[in-house]
Amino acid sequence: MQPMKREEVTAFRREGILFVISAPSGTGKSTLCENLRRTPDFVFSTSCTTRQPRPGEVDGEDYVFLDEQQFFAKVAAGEFLEYAKVHGCWYGTLRHTALEALSEGTDVLLDIDVQGAKNIRNQEDSRLKAALVDVFIMPPTFGELERRLRKRGTENESEIKRRLERGREEMKAWKEFKYTILSGSVEEDLTKFRAIMRAERYLSRRLTLREE
Ligand code: 5GP
Repeated sequence: MQPMKREEVTAFRREGILFVISAPSGTGKSTLCENLRRTPDFVFSTSCTTRQPRPGEVDGEDYVFLDEQQFFAKVAAGEFLEYAKVHGCWYGTLRHTALEALSEGTDVLLDIDVQGAKNIRNQEDSRLKAALVDVFIMPPTFGELERRLRKRGTENESEIKRRLERGREEMKAWKEFKYTILSGSVEEDLTKFRAIMRAERYLSRRLTLREE
């Protein structure tokens, strides 16, 4: 038997994965994203929005806060991968930030609404399609969604009603997503989402042998 001249090491490289999280307002998606961001092994894409900053929100970190004129200048310049009107304000994902990270092999996390997820899913770009892993967080019941939304206390009564109506519609879209997590406790949601991330990172089709 021939002795091996040198140890052979198998090394892979892969393109980044575009993780998209959507859920009706109040489900706990923001908390999930905050928890995921505590041990980040991805880039979180900071969206642009025309809504007013909430107390404690930092421009450029939570969102890039723009007025409508600034927002639509970016629309016209093709700077958004997707954009949508949500609860009366505009929100958009910056194309450059997301695509640059993906091509460098870095995973990207987007916290966007159901329309935004659909817009991304419907894009023709085959690399984007291959990168996309969209996850819907389903409230355990409609009553629980209402309880969670009221508990966070950030919206007035008419806004709560508006979000619940919209939430009921959004819940119908769950089948369009590759994965659905039935929301439980904060820890359970985090564990389930991390499990999806882990499995997606091992998909053979994402890997390319790195030649020495
Ligand atoms: P909030 O104003 O409560 O932070 O977010 C309201 C909703 O807008 C959430 O469902 C959030 O996921 C969604 N959202 C945030 N950024 C974007 C974005 O860039 N695009 C879309 N389509 N939705 C977004």
